[in-house]
Amino acid sequence: AGLLPFQHEEFFPFKDAEVAGRQREAFAYVRSTYVGKTFPLLVSGRAVSDRDTFEVRNPADRAEVVWHFPKATEQDLRDAIDAATVAFESWRFSDPMQRASIMLKAAALLRARRMEFNAVMTLENGKNWAEADGEVAECVDHLEIFARETLKWAQGKPVEPMQDEHVTMVYEPLGVVAVISPWNFPAAIPLGMALGAIAAGNTVVWKPASETPLSSYLMIELLHEAGLPQGVIQFLTGTDDVLGDPLVDSPKIRMVAFTGSREIGCRIYERAAKVQPGQKWLKRVIAEMGGKDPTVVAADADLDAAAQGIVAASFGYAGQKCSACSRAIVEDSVYDAVLQKVVDLAGKIQVGLPEENAPLGPVIHEGSLQRILGFVEEGKRSAKLVLGGERATVEGRDGAYLQPTIFADVAPDSSLFQEEIFGPVLTFTRARDWRHAIELANDSDYGLTASFYSKDPVKIAEARRLMHVGNLYVNRKCTGAMSGTHAFGGYNMSGTNAKVGGPDYLFWFVQTKTIAQKY
Ligand code: GLU
Repeated sequence: AGLLPFQHEEFFPFKDAEVAGRQREAFAYVRSTYVGKTFPLLVSGRAVSDRDTFEVRNPADRAEVVWHFPKATEQDLRDAIDAATVAFESWRFSDPMQRASIMLKAAALLRARRMEFNAVMTLENGKNWAEADGEVAECVDHLEIFARETLKWAQGKPVEPMQDEHVTMVYEPLGVVAVISPWNFPAAIPLGMALGAIAAGNTVVWKPASETPLSSYLMIELLHEAGLPQGVIQFLTGTDDVLGDPLVDSPKIRMVAFTGSREIGCRIYERAAKVQPGQKWLKRVIAEMGGKDPTVVAADADLDAAAQGIVAASFGYAGQKCSACSRAIVEDSVYDAVLQKVVDLAGKIQVGLPEENAPLGPVIHEGSLQRILGFVEEGKRSAKLVLGGERATVEGRDGAYLQPTIFADVAPDSSLFQEEIFGPVLTFTRARDWRHAIELANDSDYGLTASFYSKDPVKIAEARRLMHVGNLYVNRKCTGAMSGTHAFGGYNMSGTNAKVGGPDYLFWFVQTKTIAQKY
């Protein structure tokens, strides 16, 4: 559609001292510009700030309050949904070229400010430079990809013609979409869902996780700067009793786009099914939930590559990704060798401050660490602890740090093998042979990502056929899906499989109109 061929945004080479220096300057800039500030809600383009506020804390040192956001009231929620309803009446008819142009402009603006966005994210959710950069680069990719998807879907699809009728099939937006997002990808995940909505002509009520509102707020500001009309996206922060169920239950919400925990995802799915008084549609829900992602290593695999992939996917961002590897399932004859390699690599991972780009930072907060430690205690009873297993400390900082932790000989029926831990904890399980390993990999309620390591085309073909996940990676790690290339979303309890960043994603955000006209 007249656009240059898409290219993934390149990551910054932080090993380069000049580049690292610029990232440090960006931290200084963010500290002097944003830290201590109170940011507003955005409703119909109005900044609403005279509300009680809550504190956002730096997970690397919970003693540090970084910024404040308002607690939206019930009236704010009603106003936001009404504003989105009003804005829908014009935005639904907006020119797809205009929508795409806004996204491309926003991509250009973001490209110039990536390091600033990285720094904000690090201070909110504890990602180190590389992890934050991966996510902000993904946001640029999303903007470029959704611009192209907007134009593609505006075409409708061809249907078989009839003798005496002119027939077209077009896609139309649904209405007001509630975007509810998690703290672990506070920019890319809500942006993906919101762009899906606005690409198709829907309007949005965007509720970020309370831990990480600024990464979302700045993204919306950027879209406005790029020309997005006020009122297309409303931004609400606050407490779940005001913004959780009441947002999902509103009869004026047409669709809920959610990413987060299985528990909340199931709750939303159930509540949204109820038709409320005055509601004229069945709500649509997309819910991307958890993972318990396996890496299978067959005996013939490149064991060093497998070990590196396992370590990167298990301990990157302290394992706090739905896509994180949390189960290594290894064929008997190479089990000890792979375990040794992984323990050696993981044992070298330094725990430290994300702001100083330490490889392993904190988990999001103490509550999360306590939950993870519950699994660790269970593992100490039921399996063999081979690395870590203790809280870590960073001097003078009040953060929830855990050593990289590995358990060997974990039984498939244990909670360690079955439940999502969401921390830097990896389990090893021995398989009789590679087929058994695939069976064990599939022994899960979840089905988000998986890796399979082998050089044997027969084994690979079987893995491709049998592994029951939305994102299967062969001979590479199971994290780091790239927008436009690795359409992302899982099977079973990992969610509705909406596949963000893929060519079918927009289908979730539209309804289809067939128009047959006689002359
Ligand atoms: N898209 C991310 C990845 O592929 C994971 C997103 C998530 O954890 O929700 O690593």
